[in-house]
This record gives sequence, structure tokens and C-alpha cells, in this order.
Amino acid sequence: MLDYGLTEEQRAIRDLAREIADNEIRPVAAEYDRTGEFPWPIVKTLAAADLFGVFIDDAYGGIANGSRTMNMVLVAEELSKACGGIALAFAGSALGALPIQISGSEEQKQRFLPDIASGKRLGAFALTEPNAGSDAGGIRTTAIRDGDHYVLNGTKQWITGGGEAEVYSVIVLTNPAKGPRGASAIVVEKGTPGFSFGKKEDKMGIRASATRELIFEDCRVPAENLLGREGTGFITAMRLFDASRPGVAAQALGIAQGALDLAVDYAIGRRQFGAPVSSFQGLRFLLADMAMRVEATRALVYATARHIDSCPKVRPTIYSAMAKCFASDMAMQVTTDAVQVFGGYGYMRDYPIEKYMRDAKITQIYEGTNQIQRDEIGKILIGEHVAGRSREPATV
Ligand SMILES: Cc1cc2nc3c(=O)[nH]c(=O)nc-3n(C[C@H](O)[C@H](O)[C@H](O)COP(=O)(O)OP(=O)(O)OC[C@H]3O[C@@H](n4cnc5c(N)ncnc54)[C@H](O)[C@@H]3O)c2cc1C
Repeated sequence: MLDYGLTEEQRAIRDLAREIADNEIRPVAAEYDRTGEFPWPIVKTLAAADLFGVFIDDAYGGIANGSRTMNMVLVAEELSKACGGIALAFAGSALGALPIQISGSEEQKQRFLPDIASGKRLGAFALTEPNAGSDAGGIRTTAIRDGDHYVLNGTKQWITGGGEAEVYSVIVLTNPAKGPRGASAIVVEKGTPGFSFGKKEDKMGIRASATRELIFEDCRVPAENLLGREGTGFITAMRLFDASRPGVAAQALGIAQGALDLAVDYAIGRRQFGAPVSSFQGLRFLLADMAMRVEATRALVYATARHIDSCPKVRPTIYSAMAKCFASDMAMQVTTDAVQVFGGYGYMRDYPIEKYMRDAKITQIYEGTNQIQRDEIGKILIGEHVAGRSREPATV
């Protein structure tokens, strides 16, 4: 791996995550994949190692020290090398904490973030609904003000950490007549009367991660849980995606690196035609392409994370979208090629590699599909070009 100029603290965080991934996660990854159980023992280990604090600012019980995104990326990558599903227990909580960090008041940050930083409670983020996926503006869950409460009604779908997390940042309509302009972000705590969960989804990959429906039926939530002002829900959500997409990119990067490592190892050990298959140029070229893709992706993902941490006032939307889209497409390609390196054994569940291919797929879908990322990148690119042209002085 190249020297990416990580600070001593970032290297320590990465090494700690790597140690836990190798010693605690790798040995149990296949079992969690099979059972689909939520990995509470691993969550406790991550919490004891303070890793849930790496994405929370120091003033609220965390250890981010100005490096929130980079820390999150490093840990997500390391954990995903061992298991992309278990890594989501960590990354999903970071996602849930983000709206509070972005739009929460000082009092709300003090109330919710320290428990997420310590890993005592997990966070989750809920935007998607059965009829509102890519078109998030079509959400229908309402939160109508009634005295000093909001009354929530509606259903959120496929929420990562659903049922296991305790602090949910939910995007709702506080003024349904205004459509997306009437959306707001609000924190709903597990255990609030009228808040229940649907069945756990049976997924293709990331099976150790819990995905459930959130159901709100006349659920009364204190008005003091509203994040920011009414009507700013989509501003919070868009700023969240700016910060969180590099996390999905890091998950994809880790999955790809994990698959590449297994493929190289297998190619050295597997013999055909009287020689290791790694000695055949055709296979070496394949491994070389995989390695180039992984390292190029790492450079983009780390640069994006560093940019977000060091330039908090500049919107990184185009780079976050690029990192997410590029990394997840790369992960799909590299994990598919890794299965190829294993030949027929790669197709068998007894071998660890097919899981990486299944886990990689989701990174092209959630937090905005890659079609949506490309659309956003294209729009910004063209918008900037047009704006730049109109700013150019007229030629004589
Ligand atoms: C395992 C899992 C975990 C998830 N976790 C969460 C979570 O924690 N919180 C949360 O809020 N959501 C979560 N989601 C939801 C996820 O973000 C959505 O699934 C995703 O945004 C896509 O929405 P959709 O599935 O409804 O697809 P659709 O929007 O129905 O899209 C269907 C197809 O049409 C394409 N398409 C749609 N619109 C366009 C367009 N304008 N241009 C080009 N192509 C388009 C899409 O790319 C896709 O290929 C999760 C989903 C899964 C599967």
C-alpha cells in the first residue's frame, strides 16, 4: 500500500481496526453470513476499543480530533476486508449519528452523541420508504405537530440497523402540503410507544447486518427531538450523503482488498499443469488489473475523506458521489474476478470468496444507486462548465 500521509493517530486507529478484523471478525464471518444474526459480541469489542468514537467530535465523547471522515473510512475499510456485513454495524451507526452532528443543537448533541460514541447505543438513518427510493422526495411519513410533540405515521423501509439500533434519525414530512420542502429530520428513540419494527429482511449479502422496516403508528415524539428547523430535512439528508458516501466507498474498497488478498493467496497455492496457477501470465494479468483498481480507488477515497475533513465549508458532493460510484463498481468487478481466480471452488459456499461478491453488490445500490450518483456527477459537471463559460470574459 502507498504512503497516504496518515497521521500517527490515524495509523493507530487503522491498526486497531485491522487487529480486531483479523482476530475477532474473520474467524466468525462465515457463521454470521450463514445465520444472519446481528454481531452483538463484535459490537461490544468495537465499543471497548473506542472505535464508535472515531466519527464523533471530541466535545461529544468521541475521539475524531478533526478527522471524522478519514477515521470512519479507515475503520470501515479494515472491518470490511474481513466482513462487509459486520462492518455495517459500525458504519450504520456513523450514518445515524451524522444528522445529529450536522443539524443538531448543542443540547441534542450532548444528549445523543456520547452514547453513540461509546457504543452503548447504535444509531440508524431512515429515509427510504416502499414507494420512495431514488425519488426520496416522494416520502409520505408524516410528523404533525400536536402541542409539544410531533405525531408520526408511516413506514420506513430497509433501514440498516433497524431493530438493533436505539437512536433513529428519521426524515419525515412536517408539512405534507409543501412536499419535499416540508420535510424535516427528527430523532426517534427505540421504545417510544407507537414505534415498532417489521420483519428482518433475508438478504443476498451483508447478511450480518440487520435490515428492517420502521413502523410509526400515532407515535408521539417530543418536539425537542426535531433536528434543525422544520423544512430543512432534505438539506440535512443531502449533507449527510456528502459525508457518508465515502464510508460506502470504504466498505467497497475493503471488500475488494479482502477478495484480492484471498485471490493472490489461492493462486499461489493452486496447482494446474504442474505449476501454481499464479505462474500463468493470463492469471497474473488478471491479478494485476485487480490490484491497480484497488489502489487507484484507495487514492480517490482517501483524498475525498481528507478533503471533507479539511474543507468543511466546501460541499464535496461531486467527489463523494465519484468515490462511492467508482469504489462500488470496482468492488463488483474485483470480487467477480476473485471468484474467477478460484475457478469452480470460487462458486462454492465452502470457500470464502463468493461471499465477497455477494457483499459487494449492495455498495452499488444503497445511499443512492450508481445511476443516481452518475446523474449527480453529470449534473454538477455540466452545471459548473456552463457557469464557468458564462463567467469567461467576452473575447474581441
Ligand atoms: C440492504 C439495504 C440497506 C439499506 N439501508 C438503508 C438505510 O439505512 N436507510 C435508508 O434510508 N435507506 C436504506 N436503503 C435503501 C436504499 O438507499 C435504496 O434501496 C436505494 O436508494 C434505491 O432505491 P430503490 O431500491 O427504491 O430503487 P428504485 O429507486 O426503485 O430504482 C430502481 C432502478 O431504477 C434506477 N433509477 C431510479 N431512478 C433513476 C433515475 N432518475 N435515473 C436513472 N436510473 C434511475 C435505479 O438506479 C435502479 O436501478 C437500503 C437498501 C438496502 C437494499
